[in-house]
Amino acid sequence: MNEPLSSFYATPSFFSHSAPDPSVYIVVLHQHLRGSALAALQSAMSSLSVDVAALDCRLGVGANRPLRHLTNKISSQTHIQPTQLSFSYKHKSWSFAFFRTNHISSKSCSATLSLMAEVEKETFDIEKADLLVKDLRKVYRSGKTKSYEWRVSQLKRILKMVEEKERDIIKALQEDLSKPELESYISEISMTKGSCKHALEELEAWMKPQKAKTSITTYPSSAEIVSEPLGVVLVISTWNYPFLLSLDPVIGAIAAGNAVVLKPSEVAPASSSLLAKLLEEYVDNSAIRVVEGAVAETSALLEQKWDKIFYTGSGHVGRIVMAAASKHLTPVILELGGKCPVVVASDVNIKVATMRIIAGKWGCNNGQTCIAPDYIITTKAFAPKLIDALRHELVEFFGVNPLESDDISRIVNLYHYKRLKRLIDDDKVSNKIVLGGQTNENQLKIAPTILLDVPEDALVMKEEIFGPLLPILTVENIEDSFTVINSRSKPLAAYFFTNNEDLKKDFVRNVSAGGMLINDTILHLTVPSLPFGGVGESGMGSYHGKFSFDAFSHKKAVLYRTFKGDSPTRFPPYSAGKLQLLKSLMEGDMFRIILSLIGWSKD
Ligand code: NAD
Repeated sequence: MNEPLSSFYATPSFFSHSAPDPSVYIVVLHQHLRGSALAALQSAMSSLSVDVAALDCRLGVGANRPLRHLTNKISSQTHIQPTQLSFSYKHKSWSFAFFRTNHISSKSCSATLSLMAEVEKETFDIEKADLLVKDLRKVYRSGKTKSYEWRVSQLKRILKMVEEKERDIIKALQEDLSKPELESYISEISMTKGSCKHALEELEAWMKPQKAKTSITTYPSSAEIVSEPLGVVLVISTWNYPFLLSLDPVIGAIAAGNAVVLKPSEVAPASSSLLAKLLEEYVDNSAIRVVEGAVAETSALLEQKWDKIFYTGSGHVGRIVMAAASKHLTPVILELGGKCPVVVASDVNIKVATMRIIAGKWGCNNGQTCIAPDYIITTKAFAPKLIDALRHELVEFFGVNPLESDDISRIVNLYHYKRLKRLIDDDKVSNKIVLGGQTNENQLKIAPTILLDVPEDALVMKEEIFGPLLPILTVENIEDSFTVINSRSKPLAAYFFTNNEDLKKDFVRNVSAGGMLINDTILHLTVPSLPFGGVGESGMGSYHGKFSFDAFSHKKAVLYRTFKGDSPTRFPPYSAGKLQLLKSLMEGDMFRIILSLIGWSKD
């Protein structure tokens, strides 16, 4: 146990290499670093002037609770502040904390080693997931989460959390995505607060049973629809808006009176870690919990029986979620993606249209948004004008060298950077780039890139882009764009820029999409009275505003009767007269009802 930390965590050559510089302790969980992973770590660490050439260490799947727990404990015992670092490898963001110090004390080494053992035991597996759900179910059954007061208190706590920790949230988003502060404020902080406030204002009305009409068959009676919570629900969220897309469904789940587990995305480790820390600090952990982690942890959660699973992410994982849910007949909401088209007619205000397209594409997380414009369709004749206008506005917004602009997010990790680079490097589009194309792998940056007339079988048209590339397809007549869109999977959003009222109507009538916006992009998702969700391949179910409350509620049909008003026709022994009266009643034929009652048959 008193073995020096250096030999446990790093090869001696590392220390000789870096001597007499400060030593480095690496905090550790599962994976051995080899080959390209080491290169990824190296490039991430170069920004901190730490050389990892000779380093042979093990890293943990970052940002999970045990890792945070371990680093907190080490720093409290050694009084050395850790440096947090994340880097990309194999589609995942890895993060870890390392400690720099001028001397290694055996006391801190053994403390760290024993903490390591403690942490290894903390891995979240099926057994732990099972216990977690059992705990939450117990709390749910106690009725605690159902009361109006509990729901309000938790929503207020989330609001307070977002208000008080605004700076921390902005910092985490900066770390994960280089998200500009203004974007973080609008699309994560302000929208989450807006959802919370809206739920607080409306909750009483949402919870009230809704009166329903009754029919002649139950006369006299009254009826209502009672919204009841579903129970214990799971929210699995994604990385591009890691706060909004985690907290927004959680707000709906709490408003509807459920116990909830949130599994944020490991691809945005700083945000995941902060969400776990803050929710632990602010809300009632007996009913609201966060589980951090990646595939293993999510799979352990998916083995459990939930009362609803709300998943945001790719269709590929959506299928895994749905298959797991089907084993328990658990209903799912799948908030997926797709290729969102933007049709631009030639009768538009071109400056306004291009500004709005740019804002929705590059001004929202650099295209890493589920409803970002994925491709444009315009007429052959109008395309050159549109490209000129886009070029002009892009320079206005991001300068001549957009890679140096602070107003544009970076690509989330190396995996996604390489995925996007592959789309640009595809032979089928090599001569189609009319704007942009610059990249910087070290900084994970890709400039706004426009491609003209890409073939349908180019990679960029085969998958959701989810990044700063924007192909433009051209058609002879703008109406032809509807056929192009309808020949593909149904998108999450479809946009149309035109002043022609008939064309607008045709677009709404003939194009199927999760949502639509005429003459702008993205903004429809900010309207709480509109449902947000996909159709077909872009997902199922919806949320936002009252739709979030409904997404996590069961609509219970309740009919009230008294002991009066029985019709004899309902009870045996049945007779022809009873049948005739029943038929007359069902058809609402007053004349036949009277005839039946006095025993006459019209037939
Ligand atoms: P991701 O990699 O963060 O995955 C989403 C979640 O699934 C994460 O919590 C992750 O841990 C979990 N996960 C990943 N692999 C898993 C597996 N094999 N088994 C179980 N769980 C697993 O996110 P992503 O998939 O890269 O997300 C991007 C996609 O999400 C895009 O298609 C985008 O359009 C879509 N999206 C949709 C919305 C929406 O509101 N409809 C919002 C944002 C993103």
